[in-house]
Amino acid sequence: MMLRVRTHIPGFPRIGANRELKFALERYWRGEISLDELEIAGRDLRARHWALQREAGLDFVTVGDFAFYDQVANHIQLLGCEPSRFGFSGAEAELSRYFTLARGMAREGDGAQEKSCPALDMTKWFDTNYHYLVPEFSADTDFSLNSERFFSEIDEAKQLGHSVKAVLIGPLTFLWLGKEKTAGFSRLDLLKKILPIYQQILARLHAEGTEWVQIDEPILGLDLPPEWQQAFEPAYHQLAATGARILLATYFSPLKENFNLASRLPVAGLHVDAVRAPEDALLAGDWLPAHKVLSLGLIDGRNIWRADLDRTLDFLRSERLSTPREVWLSASCSLLHVPFSVSAETGLDAELCSWLSFAAEKLQELQTLKLALQGEASASIRMDESRRALQSRGASRRVHAPEVGARLSALPPDIDRRKSPFQERRPAQKARFHLPLLPTTTIGSFPQTASIRAARAAFRRGEMSLGDYTAAMREEIAGTVAFQEEAGLDVLVHGEAERNDMVEYFGEKLSGFAFTAAGWVQSYGSRCVKPPVIYGDVSRPAPMTVDWSRYAQSLTPKPMKGMLTGPVTILQWSFVRDDQPRATTAAQIALAIRDEVIDLEQAGIGIIQIDEPAIREGLPLRREGRADYLAWATRAFRIAASGVADDTQIHTHMCYSEFNDILPEIASMDADVITIETSRSDMELLEAFATFRYPNEIGPGVYDIHSPRIPSTEEIEQLLNKALAVIPAGQLWVNPDCGLKTRAWPETKAALAHMVEAARHLRDKL
Ligand code: GLN
Ligand code: ZN
Repeated sequence: MMLRVRTHIPGFPRIGANRELKFALERYWRGEISLDELEIAGRDLRARHWALQREAGLDFVTVGDFAFYDQVANHIQLLGCEPSRFGFSGAEAELSRYFTLARGMAREGDGAQEKSCPALDMTKWFDTNYHYLVPEFSADTDFSLNSERFFSEIDEAKQLGHSVKAVLIGPLTFLWLGKEKTAGFSRLDLLKKILPIYQQILARLHAEGTEWVQIDEPILGLDLPPEWQQAFEPAYHQLAATGARILLATYFSPLKENFNLASRLPVAGLHVDAVRAPEDALLAGDWLPAHKVLSLGLIDGRNIWRADLDRTLDFLRSERLSTPREVWLSASCSLLHVPFSVSAETGLDAELCSWLSFAAEKLQELQTLKLALQGEASASIRMDESRRALQSRGASRRVHAPEVGARLSALPPDIDRRKSPFQERRPAQKARFHLPLLPTTTIGSFPQTASIRAARAAFRRGEMSLGDYTAAMREEIAGTVAFQEEAGLDVLVHGEAERNDMVEYFGEKLSGFAFTAAGWVQSYGSRCVKPPVIYGDVSRPAPMTVDWSRYAQSLTPKPMKGMLTGPVTILQWSFVRDDQPRATTAAQIALAIRDEVIDLEQAGIGIIQIDEPAIREGLPLRREGRADYLAWATRAFRIAASGVADDTQIHTHMCYSEFNDILPEIASMDADVITIETSRSDMELLEAFATFRYPNEIGPGVYDIHSPRIPSTEEIEQLLNKALAVIPAGQLWVNPDCGLKTRAWPETKAALAHMVEAARHLRDKL
């Protein structure tokens, strides 16, 4: 029995239906609009987003989820812990300091000297593709209530007549997310300093009549060290003393051993992610004291599918949720991670659209759920609509391709094994390619010049014929191949001129994928991504890259590397169907890539690279799920890679993450060669190879492609010498950290020339 049912969401996307925030930010950064105009754009967006929540019938609007760049950066200012290394005098406007934290600054030093101050680091928000700015802490970090922004946004909402639930990142999660800039202290020690500021904030909210404050502590879903667990109770006793009504919000991952802790904290309510952790919801039904509000995150904030409202209602009516109490219906987490509204998708077919639910639609789903739960007749039309959509998705021939299922269920057990072990493949490959010691190569892409982008745009708009477009891309490829021959690289690439994006390119050629027109999701600041939608069984109607690679190989006697994106990365950077395990979808993509690999081999391409930069990103937040994930993820890669003969050389490439902790699993992928990002951490990864003997060949990146800086030959040689200390010369490749598509030609040419020279020097010495 529910004493009262209310609806709310943990947060709403701030970027705007038409990415208004992005465009306003970029105009401001270009100096085209003033700070005041930017503020107005922000206020308009907030007002619109609150109005949407109110119109949908939610009982609260959520305030505090807006940020001009990032919500963690907002807290850095709110809590007064901007790192001193930025040297702010205090005279700068708050928002201009904010953008300096986010984007760094090039400061005029004495004379002509430019002193630069790098931005705060950025890293992924839990297991999402959203990036936050990492707070920097040292033993002497102090905190103070240092910004009025949060409070003025609350006033704004109240003045618009909304009933407000404010949201803050919790003190423990905020400290957890930061990094320690000095040795010999733990950022947890700062808790005693930060709590008084939270108390000040909460006391003020309470005094000003803000009824509810949602405090996010998603770290309760992690494997926390005991000292962090133990810190919660005393901390929340202090916060409770302010009189504020706190809704403690957890999401993304099951509470497990932290459940008791979370349910016992002296707060007025608990939010659990009932999508990722339905058992938390049931446990809360059993054990959460009845005077506390239970907020159930029933609508998936991480994916874009319409919810099964009947099933959700059944869940809500389950015995274990029957304790009389106030229940709030909610999204599992902030809707920041889904696009704005399906209504913008006029180009997608109606059936597919009816299966989707973005942020705006999720608000409606919540309201429907509430009305249905209360037995309101008005819910039945919407419930029917939802039911019909679900039925059509469940039965659609576009979703379920029997031949794909049949192939998957009949896979031979050795589908993920090369014919022979690496020790036998290696001599076969040596005999075929005659590569020198320390072979040089690149990661795949070459500069995506303005003319390439213009040609692609014209082709997409229908202003350029397929023939002309193909000819233009071939010309780019020919130029890139000629350059590599001249530069003396050993294994060449075609340069990926024809690719807009490494996932989108393949998604557009595979069946089971759809592309939205406006399905943008904020990645960080003004940057948004538009992930493909994997709605159905995946298969490959025709070869995807063979013509380009064959053409490129025809231009040179040197080996031309075929270039593919791996199944796990395609999965990881898409919205994936939720009606079957991710592992199954990964296996389907793997089979499609496998067919492409075999076709490339047949077309005479002897070296094929399958990129898996995102393999580490899929790792579950909890240790418990990791072995299972790594097992199916590495198997998907091996399925893709294993259809070829011993003398075909398979490469893989990884970047963006630290891989030190999954080296054995990476080795189990059994690629003949792995190229891996290292130089940004000064080859820190190599230390791991001192203890873990990587069995196959490996190319640790010798220069950072994220900057236009041209590394010198000596510098590269030094890095290679470092590598040679832990990797035998016979196993070592020489390559940059990642693809060169964001670079310009002049620095690319210069850097690669140095790289080739460094490899030659060392070869002579060895
Ligand atoms: N082959 C891709 C490229 O060079 C790899 C990109 C990546 O690892 N992110 O662009
Ligand atoms: Zn890369």
